[in-house]
Amino acid sequence: MNTSDLAWYSHEMCFWHDPGPGSGYVPVGPGVEPLRQFAVDPDLRRAEGLVRASGVMDRYTCVTPAPASDEDLLLVHVPEHIERVEAVSASGGGDAGVYAQVNYHSAQAARLAAGASVQATEDVLHGRFRRAYCLVRPPGHHAEPDRAMALCLYNNVAIAARAAQRRGARRVMILDWDVHHGNGIQRVFYEDPDVLYVSIHQDGLFPAASGLVMETGAGAGTGSTLNVPLPPGTGHDAYLAVVSRVVEPAARAFGPDLVLVAAGVDASGHDPMGRMMCTSRTFHAMASAMCRLADELTGGRIVFVHEGGYSAWYQPMLVLGTASAIAGLSAPQDPFLHSLDHLPGQRLQRHQSRVIEHLETHHPLLARHLAVTGPGRGAADE
Ligand SMILES: [Zn+2]
Repeated sequence: MNTSDLAWYSHEMCFWHDPGPGSGYVPVGPGVEPLRQFAVDPDLRRAEGLVRASGVMDRYTCVTPAPASDEDLLLVHVPEHIERVEAVSASGGGDAGVYAQVNYHSAQAARLAAGASVQATEDVLHGRFRRAYCLVRPPGHHAEPDRAMALCLYNNVAIAARAAQRRGARRVMILDWDVHHGNGIQRVFYEDPDVLYVSIHQDGLFPAASGLVMETGAGAGTGSTLNVPLPPGTGHDAYLAVVSRVVEPAARAFGPDLVLVAAGVDASGHDPMGRMMCTSRTFHAMASAMCRLADELTGGRIVFVHEGGYSAWYQPMLVLGTASAIAGLSAPQDPFLHSLDHLPGQRLQRHQSRVIEHLETHHPLLARHLAVTGPGRGAADE
């Protein structure tokens, strides 16, 4: 991959966002002794540091994004939501929604996160770059048009997809492999036939009862939402089976002009929020597969936007695995891999395979595809 084809979007101010004192994901209060909340973003700065120290960053053109304009944010959000985020942040901190704690810098960080996503998408659409990665915080995929939720203030990927449509992209595919369900993205595009939203997430983790297999879109958008809720303990082989047997055929059936990836890394085996088993090898393989898919379907146009990721020690290696794949490099040497890679759950299990088989035979996009090509090889069930 040519250096001039790759772009990396990040901004120092994104690392200044901080959900404030708390423990895990809960703010300080009754029974909660101050420790630190997840998504305190020196961790993300360390991730960028590792990509730089490894030399992989040298493959990218680094771009400092501009903040999203009101016009950009209003592609997805109502004005009252933007006013609330700005007011709570300007007051010095508090909850801007539901479990969406902010500090003084958060409103600016959130505008930069959305702005990076929009700018990366427009640059890729205009041919300035082929592939882009946005290392941004706060994350976005839980944010709904009218409220911030679960650390997410503005829905970066949804805004980017709408911005792509504004710039003439006809059909946009979003793959979201964050361990949580992207309820915000789903809600924005649930009735839109021109945006395919595919989410691979831990079944029932958050939000509860969101991201079920039977949620496949509504009205004109029927078939353009595809949820893959996997059971806790799912690892490398099952994630790759989902990519090859669900994501790729769905993408081919849909025919996107652009692929966006909500590239959270909280499905890792060391993440405190999820109960999945992915490794740097998994994220490298999934990102490689998505870049190949973009080469096949969209002229190579693909944008990755960071979402969740809460392991202080493992997140940097997972970002490096993703960044290496986008640059066409082999998977990085991962000193943590030995603690996860040998676990039996890394192989595809029958109860995981059933989710894939259900989607292959029932989801409107895949059932149509199956009718044309016939059923594929049986899974390597164990
Ligand atoms: Zn998440």
